[in-house]
Amino acid sequence: MIPKLVIANWKMAIDRDSVRHFRNEWEANQAFCEAKILVAPPAIFLSDLDGMAGVALCGQDVSANEPGAHTGELSAQMLNDFGCSHGLVGHSERRSSWSESDALVAKKALKLELLQICPVICVGESKADRESGRAEEVVAAQVLASCALLKSAPVIAYEPVWAIGSGEAATPEIAEAMHAAIKATLGERFGKPVPVLYGGSVNERNASQFTSCDSIDGLLVGGASLNARTFLNICQSVGS
Ligand code: PEP
Repeated sequence: MIPKLVIANWKMAIDRDSVRHFRNEWEANQAFCEAKILVAPPAIFLSDLDGMAGVALCGQDVSANEPGAHTGELSAQMLNDFGCSHGLVGHSERRSSWSESDALVAKKALKLELLQICPVICVGESKADRESGRAEEVVAAQVLASCALLKSAPVIAYEPVWAIGSGEAATPEIAEAMHAAIKATLGERFGKPVPVLYGGSVNERNASQFTSCDSIDGLLVGGASLNARTFLNICQSVGS
């Protein structure tokens, strides 16, 4: 059985002392988790998590450019050098604040794939898309365009924009329906099932409601992942 995947996305919301405190707390309290666990710290703290027990590393973003004169950017090679097994691309905050298009997300995902780093492609509809009944259509278009250049299966993270950081998670029914639609959209495209994670205001109380759904293969957790004990409780509530 493929274990569920739980990813902590720390965004730009943590400082170095807190990273060290998280690691100490995690390692002191860590117990067996059936899920595979990843942490996506700000890149400057990747080395602080090197060798952390029970956790693999994930980039928060990657450049679509070849290594060279691109001030402030991080290449897939750099993520590889720091041992990242996965990399987020297309997070809604990057799509909205940096106007990242599906075409750019597809190029970034390819850069990761070429170095055997698994892309975690974030997709999700806006509140207006949902209210107009276009949510599945919008997400299907994002999924197809963002995966267009890949040869091997990525991970998809379904994160409705209205649920991220709002305290208003999707219902498990909404998430389950969208996950099933995403899987149907990709069909046999990669010759194997594509894991689809749910993200958006996941917390200790609602995590297992999502992961007990058939089509939900794990979680992408923002705010609730910044505290080691809270995140550990979420990870331990997730079955296989
Ligand atoms: C995210 O930004 O990926 C996310 C899921 O955030 P939150 O859990 O805080 O809604």
